[in-house]
Amino acid sequence: MKVLVIGSGGREHAICRALASGVRSAPLRLFCAPGNAGIARTAECIPLSATDVSALADFAERERVDLTIVGGEAALAAGLADEFARRGLAVAGPTQMAARLESSKAFAKDFMLRHGVPTARHRVADSIEEAREILRSGEFGTEDAPVVVKADGLAAGKGVVVARTRSEAESAVVEMMEGGRVGVEAARRVVIEEALIGREASLLLWTDGRDYALMPPARDHKRVGEGDTGPNTGGMGAITAPGVLDDETLRFAVREIVEPTLAGARADGLDFRGILFIGLMLTEDGPRVLEYNVRFGDPEAQAILVRLQSDLFEIFDAVARRTLGDVKVEWSDDASACVVLAARGYPERPEAGARINGLEEAARIPSVQIFHAGTTRADDGSFLTAGGRVLGVTATGTTLEQALARCYESASHINWDGMHYRRDIGKWREADGRSRRQGQEAGS
Ligand code: AMP
Repeated sequence: MKVLVIGSGGREHAICRALASGVRSAPLRLFCAPGNAGIARTAECIPLSATDVSALADFAERERVDLTIVGGEAALAAGLADEFARRGLAVAGPTQMAARLESSKAFAKDFMLRHGVPTARHRVADSIEEAREILRSGEFGTEDAPVVVKADGLAAGKGVVVARTRSEAESAVVEMMEGGRVGVEAARRVVIEEALIGREASLLLWTDGRDYALMPPARDHKRVGEGDTGPNTGGMGAITAPGVLDDETLRFAVREIVEPTLAGARADGLDFRGILFIGLMLTEDGPRVLEYNVRFGDPEAQAILVRLQSDLFEIFDAVARRTLGDVKVEWSDDASACVVLAARGYPERPEAGARINGLEEAARIPSVQIFHAGTTRADDGSFLTAGGRVLGVTATGTTLEQALARCYESASHINWDGMHYRRDIGKWREADGRSRRQGQEAGS
């Protein structure tokens, strides 16, 4: 069996490792495009960009790839699944239309409204004037009330501002629609949304369009600094643990959110075969959907996949072939954590080219896996930094504390000039929901 994984981060490394270590009778031949230096130890890296859809499809055809798994949203929004399907190639990932659940926030909000999925109240504006009118109408509270402004399109984490006041919200609208804060295409429209208070949780699942299999609920840390301070990043760490979502809330979320979402996608004729990531705010009135993503999160994938006991190829293959109902997906009872080690200057201007020391010692800590996100190989075989997020030190444990202790013990063996990471992954203060609202930016 030949499998192609598309992407180049820690998420894709975790996917490749889980595929390679699956409990299968026939071995897999793994390709990853474009991959990275860590992934190259598990898969053959193919130097093709993740969004070069036709070149990727040519490669899959030529190599007779049996299954393609897409890591990130850009390839899906570019129509990768559609092109592969057109050529008769099996792919685990939603079509471009279905991927609009992530690539257009206005589309996603309209979808939620029509299918009764609980989410924050919102309005869509097509111009700065329209946005001002909405903000000044009092519909989202008066001058002092927090309100959220979201660029409609994909904006690589820069598209959401949780504004403390209406004036701040108006400035955010102008920055987005005129100031080049996000791409022109992404900010043709903005969504204005009621600000919700609570803790966040991520609920991910595989679906083949009919059946679904839930993953362990996860939580991530987006800010670069300890105590959730500093600029927003792709993610500095993630955990899975029983406390992330209690059983009652999970049952509610399945009944009121997961099932109506999947039924809605079917009713709308969206071909959703892949991973659905539901970002939740756990408010006093119950969970509300903040956003949909149509793929694994990074670093949620790392924390989740180290607990997978079933064969990952079998799951993704069943997703692509619509036979997920036949597959039993099992997880270890552990908790897990992923701590991201980042380069100096991340997220604004990460430095590259530093020599990474201590990887072998770090990997000897029990139950630890180290995923590469941004590394390259020097001529002498040693690893150099080559991205903002460099490594994801990931561990399981019988408790979250044990998983975290293993991550930090492992990380203590690794060093390079400029390395930094958060020492407070997995710790949330009670005031989280509130304190977050005082910040400027939020993740996406
Ligand atoms: P999104 O990409 O829509 O999930 O937004 C990214 C982040 O912004 C979320 O993880 C939250 O921290 C924050 N956020 C988004 N929408 C809201 C909202 N309605 N109320 C409060 N915070 C929000």
